[in-house]
Amino acid sequence: MSMVFQEPMTSLNPLFTIGDQIQTVIRRHTGCGRATAKRRAIEALDLMRIPAASARLRDYPHQFSGGMRQRVLMALALACRPELLIADEPTTALDVTVQAQLLDVLREASRELAMSVLFVTHDLAVVADVCDRVTVMYGGQVIENAGVHEMFDRPLHPYTDSLLRSVPAVDDAAERHVLAGNVPSPGSNPSGCRFAPRCAFADDECRAGPPELTVQEAGRSVRCRRAACLNFRRP
Ligand code: SF4
Repeated sequence: MSMVFQEPMTSLNPLFTIGDQIQTVIRRHTGCGRATAKRRAIEALDLMRIPAASARLRDYPHQFSGGMRQRVLMALALACRPELLIADEPTTALDVTVQAQLLDVLREASRELAMSVLFVTHDLAVVADVCDRVTVMYGGQVIENAGVHEMFDRPLHPYTDSLLRSVPAVDDAAERHVLAGNVPSPGSNPSGCRFAPRCAFADDECRAGPPELTVQEAGRSVRCRRAACLNFRRP
């Protein structure tokens, strides 16, 4: 299992070449010699489509662009061939074009290594682009779990519906939906449903006790008492 973080400049050590950093990880985890570590570091950079990988091992993080630094960070994470990569907002600091390139590279790498990717993001466009399944969280809890198409076509939880409606559409002059209120701070969660203070469908039963995460249909679970009777189908 491996993890890649949001901001590559705070994750890479500016005082060491990227070759040093990748090879150190490989040697610590596998116990292999220098020559093998160097070969595997080059393979990892190649996998991330970093040109002239062998020569670039001698470069420092500041000699890479933002997008390339993020690729280096992914090469670092993939160097030991993990079965699962946890990618925590890895594209947030990048512009849209570089973000799309990075997602393509990541998709190819996951296929080549037969690796699962757990992608943590607030960007629904990225979710639609790269994910097979989606888990929506609110107030520290899973509130909906679904296949990506099902989630976008027919959200079952009022918060998921609000999230989808808050995305601005370029061809839509209508005012953007804004969900009023704030996420409760940890330690001051409501005793009932955590979403109740912001939910248009909340009733006394919702406020009385926390709803369980329950299976609604095959491959879908939702933490909402009224999920079965709400219909948020998209046009
Ligand atoms: S359980 Fe009630 S308050 Fe919570 S999301 Fe469902 S309808 Fe809204």
